[in-house]
Amino acid sequence: MSLVTRCGIGYDAHRFAAGRPLVLGGVRVPHPLGLAGHSDADVVLHAIADALLGAAALPDIGYHFPPTDPRFRDADSRNLLIEATRLVVAAGFVPQNVDAIVIAEAPRIAPHVPAMRQAIAACLDLDIGAVGVKATTNEGMGFVGRDEGIAAMAIVTVIRADSRSVTGGERS
Ligand code: MG
Repeated sequence: MSLVTRCGIGYDAHRFAAGRPLVLGGVRVPHPLGLAGHSDADVVLHAIADALLGAAALPDIGYHFPPTDPRFRDADSRNLLIEATRLVVAAGFVPQNVDAIVIAEAPRIAPHVPAMRQAIAACLDLDIGAVGVKATTNEGMGFVGRDEGIAAMAIVTVIRADSRSVTGGERS
């Protein structure tokens, strides 16, 4: 019996749009602009969901929750992340920790980090101590620097109890 550790990486970006609420890390953040997207456009939870699915070598969120599917219009991305967690657990993995970065010129993210950590922890059934959320600006460079949108990156680690020694490769 050995413990197999895997990690996955996720990235997402959405452009600002008028008339939409800004939802980041499962938290409604006061701002004059929201983000465009089929769901609630929560870039942080989307990056985390992709990292989580990637850790289990499962297809990405666009595969599981296609933007052409009317069921996901304005969807609360917490529900997508909960479903992604269910898929990963069904594949035999248990999430261990999350670390995410929000990349935005505005608004200020720091005041909302505790609530984001709590929301993310609840979706993945983790202790809040296993969830890191950090924020940075892009120093005025690129699309984030021009305040055209928000990007997010995430990494997720999972473990799986395995009855045989695994050195790599795929196991179904
Ligand atoms: Mg997205």
